[in-house]
Amino acid sequence: MQPLADSHGRVATDLRVSLTDRCNLRCTYCMPAEGLDWLPHEETLTDDEVVRLIGIGVGLLGVTEVRFTGGEPLLRRGLPDIVRRTKELHPSPEVSLTTNGLGLSRTATALRDAGLDRVNVSLDTARREDFARITLRDRFDDVVAGIDAARAAGLDPVKVNAVLLRGINDGQAPELLGWCLDRGLHLRFIEQMPLDAQHAWQREQMVTADEILDSLAAHYDLAPAPTARGSAPAEELLVDGGPLTVGVIASVTRPFCGSCDRVRLTADGQIVNCLFSRDESDLRTPLRAGADDAELAELWVKAMAAKLPGHGIDDPSFLQPTRPMSAIGG
Ligand code: SAM
Ligand code: SF4
Repeated sequence: MQPLADSHGRVATDLRVSLTDRCNLRCTYCMPAEGLDWLPHEETLTDDEVVRLIGIGVGLLGVTEVRFTGGEPLLRRGLPDIVRRTKELHPSPEVSLTTNGLGLSRTATALRDAGLDRVNVSLDTARREDFARITLRDRFDDVVAGIDAARAAGLDPVKVNAVLLRGINDGQAPELLGWCLDRGLHLRFIEQMPLDAQHAWQREQMVTADEILDSLAAHYDLAPAPTARGSAPAEELLVDGGPLTVGVIASVTRPFCGSCDRVRLTADGQIVNCLFSRDESDLRTPLRAGADDAELAELWVKAMAAKLPGHGIDDPSFLQPTRPMSAIGG
């Protein structure tokens, strides 16, 4: 087993796999209303190719956790089968999903049966009208149905991911937490990052972790959760004595790059060693040219060794990566 180590002492064990760059919502902080130029079908990895690369990560490179994301991973028809084949790998990794929840009401049971361990559903507001303003689609009820189905299927505890936007839902953190507590859901806020396709992110507009925590503390009793943070990016807090938690992922104001253990595989077979990396390493071309597992593993190790120490958002020379978050895999 060769670890995915970089030259700053970190080892990647958490693989994020983007299964498609397409999406059925248009969250304004993520992509433009008209969508993007989606990857052509022939450039997208097949189910067999995805599973083969995950197998190399798990079998040869020390990957222990696999999270499927996108774009919207539920748009990938073969998802339950990809989950099942990933769980059957040796050693079997933890398998989770990050989704906007559309269609989850139909697939939650199949995904649970395939071996899915956990699901995170993105929901930025508990108000239907604001959901439509943020996502440009009137699908709030479908997301709620997806969350309910995931819980009913035993995919507990479901986590909700939320992004707050100035002037739209920035005052709704306590309300959204109350909504989640009523339904037995853990909630995590994510600071808005400069990863939108439109390049419209402005630091001054960003709702900071401090603001979010202050507004929550005015309504709830928050105490540090007993589990150590480790490499997890969220600062988890017990709400009103627990057991439910709220977390804030302060990627911008309190970067956690020093303890990052993530690596990403895009839907077209590129290894991205950091969400903010402007370089990618192509595994699809050698894979399709007949490279064996050891050769692909070697390329992957090389890609990780070059990981930079931090995202550099605060550096005056910072440049957004060419791909938006929806095409890298959030
Ligand atoms: N479509 C799925 C979803 O929304 O959960 C998976 C992909 S999405 C890119 C993954 C997560 O990234 C979501 O929770 C979304 O809110 C978050 N996200 C997207 N753009 C972001 C940005 N610019 N800053 C912070 N989080 C962002
Ligand atoms: Fe789609 Fe997720 Fe981006 Fe929203 S955040 S547009 S659901 S990929």
